[in-house]
Amino acid sequence: MKVILLGAPASGKGTQTKLLLSKLNVPHVSTGNILRENIANGTELGLKAKEYMDQGLLVPDELILGIAEERLSRDDCKAGFVLDGFPRTIHQAKALDEILEKFGVHLDAVVDIEVAESFLYNRITGRRACPLCGETYHITDLMPKVDGKCDKCGADLITRADDTREVFGKRLEEYKNLTAPLIDFYKEKGLLKTVVSNNIVEDVHNEILKVLGI
Ligand code: AMP
Repeated sequence: MKVILLGAPASGKGTQTKLLLSKLNVPHVSTGNILRENIANGTELGLKAKEYMDQGLLVPDELILGIAEERLSRDDCKAGFVLDGFPRTIHQAKALDEILEKFGVHLDAVVDIEVAESFLYNRITGRRACPLCGETYHITDLMPKVDGKCDKCGADLITRADDTREVFGKRLEEYKNLTAPLIDFYKEKGLLKTVVSNNIVEDVHNEILKVLGI
């Protein structure tokens, strides 16, 4: 199955992607995680991307399209994938269409997770992330087993530089201006499935399975 998860920053996209992946045997394709890995490894791409990410801005398409195509061209994506955080602009969505056409595959569904804006700020300020593997937690809603440590790799958890209130406001603005138009783009293609979040992780997960017919 080839699926895109759409949603505002902190809508639960990352968490829902992981839950969905536990049902589908396909890879998680997250451009945000690839960028953070590049930052952690000090690559040229990472250095360039960080300038934008730290300000809550989208990274320019010329940096993103190459990494997305490279990731999607790998063998493990042949059977399917869950795309999280890509595409984020109409230009990226059209580029994705071209990439998939080149590979002779097509999308099965685009799931949009709708969350009331007031919840997003609470979520973001309580979010903690693993700088090594990208796993995310929340100080009250999704606590790690050992306080301050990643369950998966044991690294010290951090607050992401782009998870402050101020930077988050910018990310939300970028989402509304540049990413939200994808909802109509995929609606017109007949691919859009909307899930209205009630903030209960399990319920949202079940709803996603339902709209995907899993
Ligand atoms: P995420 O982890 O998906 O929330 O992404 C974190 C940050 O990485 C975003 O706020 C952007 O600065 C950048 N980013 C990730 N994916 C993309 C993308 N597809 N296009 C542009 N910027 C991106």
